[in-house]
Amino acid sequence: MLTRRILIAAIFAAFASTAQAQEQHARLPVVATFSILGDIVSNVGGDRIGVKTLVGPNGDAHVYSPSPADAKTLADAKVVVTNGLGFEGWLARLIKSSNTKAPNIIASRGIKPRALAGAHSHAGHSHGHSNGDPHAWQSVANVKIYVANIRDGLIKADPAGKAAYEANAATYLAKLDALEGQIKDIVSKIPPERRKIITTHDAFGYFKDAYGVEFIAPQGVSTDSEASARDVARIITQIRKQKIPAVFIENISDARLLTRIADETGAKVGGTLYSDALTDEKGLAPTYIDLIRHNIRTLSAALQS
Ligand SMILES: [Zn+2]
Repeated sequence: MLTRRILIAAIFAAFASTAQAQEQHARLPVVATFSILGDIVSNVGGDRIGVKTLVGPNGDAHVYSPSPADAKTLADAKVVVTNGLGFEGWLARLIKSSNTKAPNIIASRGIKPRALAGAHSHAGHSHGHSNGDPHAWQSVANVKIYVANIRDGLIKADPAGKAAYEANAATYLAKLDALEGQIKDIVSKIPPERRKIITTHDAFGYFKDAYGVEFIAPQGVSTDSEASARDVARIITQIRKQKIPAVFIENISDARLLTRIADETGAKVGGTLYSDALTDEKGLAPTYIDLIRHNIRTLSAALQS
């Protein structure tokens, strides 16, 4: 009788501890708007959170059309992380239709938006993004600010995870410091007069400001309108005049325009740059750090030779 009781007690104890372990591992449901942000959030949240992204690998967040499933994903979220700076123009309506009450961490909060050279306004309406250039993640220094905002927002939503979020953020920030050093080192080896390239849309302004490689694009900071014939002609003239060595395709954009520009000018196609989205696991840029490393290696290889 006694042994049976002990056995039952032992089974109950085992049960209870399993349930407790499961409870401890119930992940905080977090939604990030696009793949690059989702990776950064995963690094800070670690195994305390479960991240879902709305715009997936190789997706274009500028022109995204949310689905009913996205509204459900948002409704189930306890935290929503967004880029801000006018990047997710479709989000406000989606948030409203989902009825989510989840707090919104704006990852770019505190970053001074880059002014747009091409933006101008007429009486009554303006062209270009009212918030400036949204692609702040192309500077690693800015992503360090994203990490701090995400860390602080997660601690607010899940105070019990404070130590874990702080430790994860510190580990990731150290990796970002190393990444920044690598970029500066690689750029320093490219002859200054060759630090100029063409891409499809104007996504690399923050990279240019931070690391001194000039990017020129026929399309503006959004992909929502096509490049005009005049913009394409201007780029072709500029490539010839400034002897720009290479043009680059982007993973989120149609390659045909850039291929045509390369054909007409004799500039070489230097490869693919990842601007606004990661690749899937099998691709060359499944994480933010991979994306930056891939981009800097690809452009330096094309500009060296
Ligand atoms: Zn973009």
